[in-house]
Amino acid sequence: MTTYNIIIIGAGIAGLAAAISLRHPTRRILLLEQSPLSTEIGATISLQPNASKLVARWGVSDLLAPLAMTDTAFSVYDLSGSLKTHVSLSSSMGTYGAERMIYHRQDLHAVLRERATSVEYEGLPAEVWVGKRVVGVDCEEGVVEISDGETVRGDLIIGADGIKSVTRGYVLGKEVAARLTGWSAYRMMVEMEDLVQDEAFVKVVDPRVSRTVMVVGDRRRMVMGPARGGKVYSVVALVPDEMGEGGGKGTSWVTKGDRGKMLDTFGDFPDWARAPLRLAQGEIGLWQLRDLDPLETWCKGRVILIGDSAHAMLPTQGQGGSQAIEDAEALGALFRELGGDEEGGGRWKREDVERINQEVFECRYERATTIQAYSRLAGGEDERAKVAMNPAEFMDYNCLYEGAIDWRRRQVVV
Ligand SMILES: Cc1cc2nc3c(=O)[nH]c(=O)nc-3n(C[C@H](O)[C@H](O)[C@H](O)COP(=O)(O)OP(=O)(O)OC[C@H]3O[C@@H](n4cnc5c(N)ncnc54)[C@H](O)[C@@H]3O)c2cc1C
Repeated sequence: MTTYNIIIIGAGIAGLAAAISLRHPTRRILLLEQSPLSTEIGATISLQPNASKLVARWGVSDLLAPLAMTDTAFSVYDLSGSLKTHVSLSSSMGTYGAERMIYHRQDLHAVLRERATSVEYEGLPAEVWVGKRVVGVDCEEGVVEISDGETVRGDLIIGADGIKSVTRGYVLGKEVAARLTGWSAYRMMVEMEDLVQDEAFVKVVDPRVSRTVMVVGDRRRMVMGPARGGKVYSVVALVPDEMGEGGGKGTSWVTKGDRGKMLDTFGDFPDWARAPLRLAQGEIGLWQLRDLDPLETWCKGRVILIGDSAHAMLPTQGQGGSQAIEDAEALGALFRELGGDEEGGGRWKREDVERINQEVFECRYERATTIQAYSRLAGGEDERAKVAMNPAEFMDYNCLYEGAIDWRRRQVVV
């Protein structure tokens, strides 16, 4: 039986999800990852119902269930500590067929990696080579060059190398830099056993209850909630760049946050709300948030971009990872027809790969671009010309998604 080679550049959420979705008895899938992959950052990631339902179809619900938290409510406090809004998030299961789930990134990553590489599942297990930084891509020939000089050849090459993608430059024939959004985010974790000792915090918020708590001040906000089955409490604290370390002038995207400076920046927040900032474990990271303008295309020759390399977006809708999972599912669904036939004399024909890559792009582009624009709108930018939906309509647009084939059919019908 002929086997076909798929090279995935980057083993983040997009890359691993693509490896799962494309698994097949005739496909050898190799992921090239520049990092050692041992230290995915200590932060949470939410999967919205549109992505949760796709992940559930990959048969990993039993692995994820003990690690997941289902978000049940959303509470907003102001600087005086008063509760301004409380929205009970009724189960999305009935309306959208899946819940909004919160994971520790390391947990989600580990489960996706297991599902992609374990021999327990159907299809050839994917291989992950760590410490392999890709430095060049020949899109027409499907050849990928690694920094140690080695080259690997694939029938299909997937650029899942994140917002700073190297692959993007080869697909577009020019460098497209990510855009500063003016926001930075501190991200950190607190041990639940420490936080429940803080009487002031517990008096206002029971951290063991799975709900998202937001505290909003002038141009700053904290967003927090439990994760890892309630073992930890996760905090994202958003600040304008100029209030971050280095006054937003540094060139690095991720810096080590300074706890003293962070506590000063949130000095006018209620004392109880600052407790998690005081108690955070280990290093505090500070991310400068960037996104991309919509690209002209995501594909060239044998190569396609997915995830943040194609459409990095602000985290205001928690859709970045979810859109990466939708891309991955679309690849699996639309490449199904190139399953295991013997055409192509041992290699998938370039024109077949090109055609299907283009179909994936056309199926995904408008949706990902709309969600990108809405994420900017929610971040305070004027993107109304691009998104004519109110929040409820947008929620339906996001969550009533059933995969690429269904989406394509619905677009044609409309
Ligand atoms: C503060 C913040 C909060 C967020 N919260 C959420 C949320 O709640 N929900 C959500 O859905 N999304 C959220 N996101 C967005 C989400 O994290 C991203 O959209 C998602 O991680 C994208 O996955 P990816 O695999 O495309 O990219 P990445 O996760 O960046 O993975 C890319 C991988 O490629 C590797 N790589 C890069 N270059 C090379 C190379 N040259 N050679 C080999 N390997 C390479 C990298 O090491 C990395 O492992 C958030 C983002 C931020 C910044």
